[in-house]
Amino acid sequence: MLVSHTTHQLSPTLLTALAHVLSGEYAFVARVHKMFELLQQAVPFYDGRLLYQSQSHGSEPLYEQINTASRWPMPWNEEQTRQVMHSRMAVQSADALDDATDISNVTTLSVPVVWAEQLCGVLELRAEGSDVFAAPHQTFIAAMLPLLAAAVVAEADKTYALAAHPQAHTLMQRQEDALNDLYEEFGAPYALNEFLTMLLRWSLDATGAEAGMISLVDHDKKQLVAQVYQGYPQEPLSRDIYGEPRRRWSWDMGVSGEVARSGRPLHIRDVARNSHASLSTPDIRSELAVPIFVDDQVVCVMVLDSPRSLAFGDSELSLIQVVCDAATPPLRRALWYQQTLETSTQLGQVFSSIPDGLALLDNEGRVLRHNPAWLGVWGLNGDILNGAFHVPWDLVPHLLPRLHDPLGLSDFCAVGQSSPTEVQTTMVILRDPHQELHVLSTPTRDSLEQLTGRLWVVSDVTREREADRLKNEFISIVSHELRTPLTSILGYTELLLARDFGRDEQREFVQTVYDQANHLSKIVEDLLGVSRLEAGKVKLNLWVVSLRQLMAEMTAQLSPHLSSRHRVVIDIPQQIPPAYVDRDKIKQILINLLTNAVKYSPRGGEVILKVREAFTLPLDHPEGDFLILSVHDQGLGIPEDDLPHIWERFYRVDNSNTRRIGGTGLGLSITKALVELHGGRIWVESIVNEGSTFFFTIPMAVEP
Ligand code: ADP
Repeated sequence: MLVSHTTHQLSPTLLTALAHVLSGEYAFVARVHKMFELLQQAVPFYDGRLLYQSQSHGSEPLYEQINTASRWPMPWNEEQTRQVMHSRMAVQSADALDDATDISNVTTLSVPVVWAEQLCGVLELRAEGSDVFAAPHQTFIAAMLPLLAAAVVAEADKTYALAAHPQAHTLMQRQEDALNDLYEEFGAPYALNEFLTMLLRWSLDATGAEAGMISLVDHDKKQLVAQVYQGYPQEPLSRDIYGEPRRRWSWDMGVSGEVARSGRPLHIRDVARNSHASLSTPDIRSELAVPIFVDDQVVCVMVLDSPRSLAFGDSELSLIQVVCDAATPPLRRALWYQQTLETSTQLGQVFSSIPDGLALLDNEGRVLRHNPAWLGVWGLNGDILNGAFHVPWDLVPHLLPRLHDPLGLSDFCAVGQSSPTEVQTTMVILRDPHQELHVLSTPTRDSLEQLTGRLWVVSDVTREREADRLKNEFISIVSHELRTPLTSILGYTELLLARDFGRDEQREFVQTVYDQANHLSKIVEDLLGVSRLEAGKVKLNLWVVSLRQLMAEMTAQLSPHLSSRHRVVIDIPQQIPPAYVDRDKIKQILINLLTNAVKYSPRGGEVILKVREAFTLPLDHPEGDFLILSVHDQGLGIPEDDLPHIWERFYRVDNSNTRRIGGTGLGLSITKALVELHGGRIWVESIVNEGSTFFFTIPMAVEP
């Protein structure tokens, strides 16, 4: 029997808190859990449960059970509970062993919950030890019991009503109020995920479920796709090999799969009592799974989970069914919206990943949208796009310093606006750096076929144009340069075959044929050399090399290129340290520069080759110990505009002098590539009609 003489032990604050919790507006199950939590502050127990009469089945009352611990054994001492119900007395009994917790010597206190002389439930508490539920504890429980009884009866009333008519109009007032709020939310335009998140959050609050997930059903693949989830103690989705969450699984698995296939809701009161329940997470004891239909097809499955057994009653199931039925129209809208969003995201991705500059303009030429490449292709930065941006009012002035033909672009825009249905194309040339842009402007229309403006596609074709130019130059130079020696070889051999010449004449002709064949061979060598260098196939054979010795070896090779008009000075100090280079490649570099110096000094003069230790290096030069070599001449010099280009393949300074001299424009590009392969740099200083000096650096051999 409960005793009530030690009232001084009662904590009024705790009782008030309990009253507040038990009369609360939220889910009954959640309120009972809160009650257990508070009660533990006054009464020491490690486990508790409430059996309460939820509805009548004929004359037999049906009981629901709410446990504090998820591992509460089932069934647990039913006989004893029945006894308490009959006797309507608190009973303390000592269990030998609690098999769930492995605690021996457990005392159970069973207290009847009575309302208006009627038994409506049993509260059971378990504690370790034999003398645990002392008088003050029992007093506290006695004081709390009427509050609990009132809450149980109110819940039972509501459940009877729902059991009789499990539809919306029979829901309790507070649920109806909450539903009305939710229906208002349903009217708002939501993106799919936003909508599902709102729906899940509402359902968790309304049922007291601890966790939940809403998945979309993919009928084609017979799969479920997790869309939103909340409340799981551990991340419910595993990761694939790319680190992306695994959102899909076959609908042959799990409770939500069953609901997706059958279209019927499932209520698992306790997983331990349910044969077919194979829940994904081991901590879950009870589960509600409800389908949401759109056009007679299950489109979503909402699952609500709890680690408590019997966490959900029929009232929660009915409520969620009503909500899911009402969710169809807003879900349909959200799905349409999502589909449009996906299409526009896909198009957006295509738009932004295209390497050409794209811009959508309205009828007035205002840029409505542009991709990242648009700015890059014009060489602009993002700042100028703040605010409305017009082509050509804003674009042309920004490009003005670089535009080769400013009026051309403005005219192009004007023509586009005056003939809005025409497709137009133009080429825009920019300076510093040189860029050639191909602009295509096509009219755009909306879904009603009305003209909306234009789409500009701007492609940087500088490289293609350059490749074209190179190809044409290659053909013209090669055909010219090859034809000249070939013509003389053919002419002289024809002569030799046709007639007999004297010995000296014959020798002279054969010498010419030999020289021209050599020249041909050099051109072919250069062509092959360029392609090998470009393919990265040239490897260096590095040795410690004395440059004085190297020059001595080269004199014989150089002499055919020299004439009496040139005085060649070689200035290499005795003490100069050796270089660490590929002997043949350095010879090739020097021969190229020295023959150019002679070739482009038609009036003769001095050609000076100097070698020095490099004590100062140009600013952008790699660090290290280098020798600096220079080849100076007093020849034609190179105009300033041509200086940056002489290193390009097939580039030749175009004037009457150089045309007469002839060449392929390959020598310097090969020379530059060979110098850089050694880790050095090459540059030139030149004054027209005074002469040029080519400088280059090569690594010094350093003592180990
Ligand atoms: P090539 O001599 O076969 O034309 P290069 O690549 O060796 O080709 O030289 C490219 C251009 O640079 C030459 O056409 C010439 O106009 C110019 N150039 C090279 N060296 C000199 C020089 N020492 N003096 C004046 N112009 C030179």
